[in-house]
Amino acid sequence: MILSDRLLMGPGPSNPYPEVTAALGEPVIGHLDPEFLALLDETNERLRTVWQTDNSLTFPISATGSAGMEAAFVNFIRPGDPVVVGVNGVFGGRMCDVASRAGADVIRVDEEWGRAIDPQRLLEAHSNPAMIAVVHAETSTGVRNDVAPLGDAKGDALLLVDCVTSLGGIPVLIDDWNVDIAYSGTQKCLGVPPGLSPITVGDRAMEHLVPTPQSWYLDLNMIKEYVIGEGARAYHHTAPISMLYALHAGLEVVLTEGLEETWDRHRICGEALHTGLPELGFQLWAQEGHRLPELTTVTLPEGLDDVQGRQLLLERYGIEVGGGLGPVAGKVWRIGCMGHTARLDNVERLLNALEQLTNESR
Ligand code: PLP
Repeated sequence: MILSDRLLMGPGPSNPYPEVTAALGEPVIGHLDPEFLALLDETNERLRTVWQTDNSLTFPISATGSAGMEAAFVNFIRPGDPVVVGVNGVFGGRMCDVASRAGADVIRVDEEWGRAIDPQRLLEAHSNPAMIAVVHAETSTGVRNDVAPLGDAKGDALLLVDCVTSLGGIPVLIDDWNVDIAYSGTQKCLGVPPGLSPITVGDRAMEHLVPTPQSWYLDLNMIKEYVIGEGARAYHHTAPISMLYALHAGLEVVLTEGLEETWDRHRICGEALHTGLPELGFQLWAQEGHRLPELTTVTLPEGLDDVQGRQLLLERYGIEVGGGLGPVAGKVWRIGCMGHTARLDNVERLLNALEQLTNESR
């Protein structure tokens, strides 16, 4: 049994809300029990509010965020379909890989890591793409990519957005932005452990649903009969009951606080980090105007060692932060402030610890 009491300020997972931890211990009932199906329906309704959508096919896939990514491609892409993918970090790159395995003709639009992708470049990358795909909040860089301009000008293309690190932390307006398909994960700003991938699919995307996708487990034609079916729900797989209790509870916390208030809490913590870290000699790395409040990337002050610094934070102060990936491995830290973790006293605890560490490393 792992019984550590860490403050999780890495790129994810965040600390779960206490109500979520309590829900995980509730007695397990059957996944076709009417009471459980009612809880699932209520969870989906709560997800619609958090996604800001009326999409009927809105539910948590029974696997982590990557399953949402895979489901979004295998269910809507046919071999040879031109798919434009924005890449300014690890997860855009992963989208290219998943799309090409689904048979897409991937048109990759690269941007320097740490900078946001100009939506116009995505819109102009192909004359008639089947899909335009982008990561809203790039967890590897702390950059927010703009989505609304893509929805305004996408034409006939389906717009797919990865919201793993944005849902519940910053505004995600699926219907207003004309997003056709979006997926997320539970472990970041929703304050629930990893294990589910909320997904939402609009009616226009449903018209493009592949009848027999190459994945059986992620086939939305079948899953939808279980998750949103009318009357008797068809068995597709055994739902992870306890994780669904947890998500149901996490969404209740978010909606009781208020979605806007939750976004504000993340924004205020982000601003406190963006002010406090440079005062200690850290430099904000992500492009100004596109910095995520829930994930701050910084370069380190002179004298502070990447690996040793993170190890000391963990061992001495019980605080986890993340290291850099890809071209900035060893050069930046990724500091998460998401979900239940996103509170000013946690920001203060981190800044105090960093002040001691930076003083010692001088
Ligand atoms: N997309 C983004 C932006 C992510 O940050 C992550 C995970 O951190 C994923 C996809 C993959 O999600 P998971 O690790 O839950 O499978």
